[in-house]
Amino acid sequence: MKKLINAPAHVVRDMLHGLIATNPGQSLLSREQVLFRSDIETVRGRQVAIISGGGSGHEPAHGGYVGHGMLSAAVAGEVFTSPAPDSVLAAIRQVTGPPGALLIVKNYTGDRLNFGLAAEMARSQGLYVETVIVADDVALSGSDTYAGARGLAGTILVHKIAGAAAAAGYSLQDVVSAARSSASDLATIGLSLSAGTVPAIGKPSYLLPEDELELGLGIHGEPGVRRMKLHSADVLAEQLIETLVSVAQIRAQERLVLLVNNLGATTAMELAIFGGHAVRALQSRSVIVERVYSGGFVTSLDAAGASLSILRVDDHRLALLDTPTSAPAWPNATPTPVGAIDQRIIVSREAPADLKHARLEENPALRNAIQAACEALISAEPHLTELDRASGDGDLGLNLARGAKAVQSALSRYPLHDAAETLSAIALDFQRSVGGSSGPLYAVMLLRAGKSLHGLAIDPKSWARAALDACAAVAELGGASTGERTMLDSLGPFAAEFNQAIQQGTANAATLESAVRAAEAGAESTSTMRPKRGRASYLGERALGQPDAGAVAISIWLRAVQRAIANC
Ligand code: ADP
Ligand code: MG
Repeated sequence: MKKLINAPAHVVRDMLHGLIATNPGQSLLSREQVLFRSDIETVRGRQVAIISGGGSGHEPAHGGYVGHGMLSAAVAGEVFTSPAPDSVLAAIRQVTGPPGALLIVKNYTGDRLNFGLAAEMARSQGLYVETVIVADDVALSGSDTYAGARGLAGTILVHKIAGAAAAAGYSLQDVVSAARSSASDLATIGLSLSAGTVPAIGKPSYLLPEDELELGLGIHGEPGVRRMKLHSADVLAEQLIETLVSVAQIRAQERLVLLVNNLGATTAMELAIFGGHAVRALQSRSVIVERVYSGGFVTSLDAAGASLSILRVDDHRLALLDTPTSAPAWPNATPTPVGAIDQRIIVSREAPADLKHARLEENPALRNAIQAACEALISAEPHLTELDRASGDGDLGLNLARGAKAVQSALSRYPLHDAAETLSAIALDFQRSVGGSSGPLYAVMLLRAGKSLHGLAIDPKSWARAALDACAAVAELGGASTGERTMLDSLGPFAAEFNQAIQQGTANAATLESAVRAAEAGAESTSTMRPKRGRASYLGERALGQPDAGAVAISIWLRAVQRAIANC
């Protein structure tokens, strides 16, 4: 590896310091990898904040799009690694005022979970936050992969449209609808001639023979949909345009914009040849190409290759794309004097005083229930490890036991007199201590349940409602529905059974017991479900015969809670 860096471990931090030195309109949080608009103090109260980000290695995404008329802040994870929810939350807190914030998230599991959880945490702190997921990849369309389309370079067009709408004073709901409709009118496909080299790894993610390319690549060095023989630039551009036009069902006389994206190491000469033919290929189909943007927008380190994105436009969308922006990586950015660089390194705005940890009165039922749930998760560790190993990566038992231990050691500090606040506190402890998919999913489940209970009389009816809301939050964040072999397959039946008894007015001492039985039956039923979410989805049929580890975990701690309450 031959790279112009200081040390592989510091590339992201060094880059962010470099960016504020070269882009005067941008500032940096001192303790988080968050770039934001230097003029934020004057605009925070006036416009909806637009936030995006993701793993690094895609420069100029996302820092290059921070500026007036585009992003308010960009959160940078380590190379090809989603940023932690705390960093995303710091970005939200830094730039969000009364008009609220929109998070624009590329469709990768890590980004969806971490940004989604940060949004939930921000909402629980009283901020008005929405998210829009971009999944513009059409390479996998029609194939049987459940992870779904990825977010690729077309996302930049969504940033531009949302950013211009926000700068024009649109309400959060109007910004969301402009962004969401653009995201659904967007299609991207790419090819790569060589993979990039992650600095900490030191060699390319994969090697391609001289005469082959990867079609339908991801932007993290993951292989594409298939390998094929290298052809001339014109033939390849023609082929990609044909795919885009047919998947997006573009007809003659439709208006669109084209984004030609350099994956990193393609020369400007090659990009002009390839992009030029893409324009001609569209025009030969009588499509009206209103604008072409060409350059490195979302790269994959030093991968050679390119992607093409098309977005349908009307006068309104085009006007938003044409509005000037000061974001340095958008073509024709407006200049700003450099000024004092160090004055633009800013300390994070603190969160409001942490949860009130004073325990005003004892609440033995809640304390016993939490204690029992933790003990059950800790003793189930070997069993959950074994189940997760069969269809996942085997870390679930360890992750949940770590979370349970963190909760046990914080138990004496929880505001147990207030069940809603206690659930939020547990959520934050889980979020900090549990990794994998379950960390963010449990955190969002508990935060939403806490929010649901907030201000209500704590009775079976409000708990039943909280269980339903918690299910909805998990489904929203993880994108799963029941029957897809996840924790929802036990949490869902639990909430449904519980609510049914409440609604029919038949709730009694046995209600919780029968709801937990529904959770156990639900968990058991996952042994015949083919996985469609998370890591297990790559295994397909091979996961059959054993129940889903996450679903079993839910039924285990629910049972422990039920027993603790029954004995109280
Ligand atoms: P990872 O797959 O990151 O290792 P964990 O081992 O922490 O995740 O958790 C795995 C469990 O999480 C699965 O057994 C499943 O129940 C649950 N899970 C995974 N993805 C989702 C999702 N999208 N929605 C709901 N639950 C999910
Ligand atoms: Mg796992």
